[in-house]
Amino acid sequence: MNLIFLGAPGSGKGTQAEFVSEKMGIVPISTGNMLREAVKNGTPAGLSAKEYMDRGDLVPDEVVIGIIKDRVAQDDAKKGFILDGFPRTVQQAESLEKMGVNIDLVVEIHVADEKISARMGGRRVCDSCGASYHVEYKPTKVDGKCDSCDGNAVQRVDDAPETVLSRLKTYHEKTAPLRDFYSQRGKLKTVEGQEEIADTKRLTFEAIGCNN
Ligand code: AMP
Repeated sequence: MNLIFLGAPGSGKGTQAEFVSEKMGIVPISTGNMLREAVKNGTPAGLSAKEYMDRGDLVPDEVVIGIIKDRVAQDDAKKGFILDGFPRTVQQAESLEKMGVNIDLVVEIHVADEKISARMGGRRVCDSCGASYHVEYKPTKVDGKCDSCDGNAVQRVDDAPETVLSRLKTYHEKTAPLRDFYSQRGKLKTVEGQEEIADTKRLTFEAIGCNN
């Protein structure tokens, strides 16, 4: 099964993608995590992406499309995958179709902007494996330390309040049109993001049709 998780930054789509990936044994592919890794390693893609990411802007389509094209062609993606954070523009969605990649379902996690801004301050991400946490809703077992590896759970530079506002604006302008794109293709299901992660998980699993 090939899935896309759509949602504003901080909607919890990455967390839900991790649950579904574990449950269904399909690989999660997060362009945000791949780009952060590229920045950390100082690769050419990372060097060109960093300034956009720090400002909260989208990285140019051709950079992310190139990354995704290579990634979905790898062996572990043959059984199925979950795209988390891609596509983010109509051009990216069209490029997936041109690559011949079949998408079974697009799950939109919907959360109102006011709630997103309030949530983002508590978000943490592992600087080594990319696992996501929240100080209130999904805390690490040991303060500041990732549960799954020996990395540190840190706040992202682009989670600063003013950058979050600009990322939300970009989401509404560039990414929200994908709802129509996929709904016209009969592929969109929307899940209302809940206060408790476990409740959103139940609704997400229901939408996909896998048992909780
Ligand atoms: P995320 O972790 O998904 O919030 O992504 C972090 C940042 O990486 C975004 O704010 C963008 O700058 C960049 N990024 C991730 N995915 C994409 C994409 N599909 N298209 C353009 N930029 C992206």
